[in-house]
Amino acid sequence: MPSNRRIKNKTKKRFKKTWNGVVKGLSRRIVVYAADFEAECPNCYYDKVNRVSSGVCKVDSSNPNYFTTGRCPVCRGKGVLVTTIKRCIEGIIIWNPGGDKLNSLTFTEAGYEGATKVEIKTDPCNLSIIRASKYVLIDGIKCKLSEPPLLRGIGEKHLLIARFFTVDKPKIDSGEFI
Ligand SMILES: [Zn+2]
Repeated sequence: MPSNRRIKNKTKKRFKKTWNGVVKGLSRRIVVYAADFEAECPNCYYDKVNRVSSGVCKVDSSNPNYFTTGRCPVCRGKGVLVTTIKRCIEGIIIWNPGGDKLNSLTFTEAGYEGATKVEIKTDPCNLSIIRASKYVLIDGIKCKLSEPPLLRGIGEKHLLIARFFTVDKPKIDSGEFI
């Protein structure tokens, strides 16, 4: 029994090691755009009841954004500033998963042009950021998550698979664009 367990653990370790090497060697950069983050405008007081700018400036007249009448020039009257959080992750990118395996591993112009589906294989530590993403940039193409990400592996979970669909339409004359 103890020897069995040892072999099992060894196999698991070897799998993980091999897999990590594969991920490292083939990985490309994926830019994940997380959900928008709202912060109160630093230039004016926020009206929490009406959820707009109060129109009252909170910086002194020496500040270039100082105003007395009209809209706040910083938030344009919204009272908040919206920031999109961007993070880069590493992963294997497979355009048109389930299609020709040779093509899917090599990135070519033609490889993604007609593709509308893309799968990425990445480290499970990226799960929460992928789940919360508004969209991602894969090979410069804007994509959205098409289904909840999956965790795969032997024994332990050490691989995250996420599937996306393209939002950008590469060909305007395809009749597909909205
Ligand atoms: Zn403001």
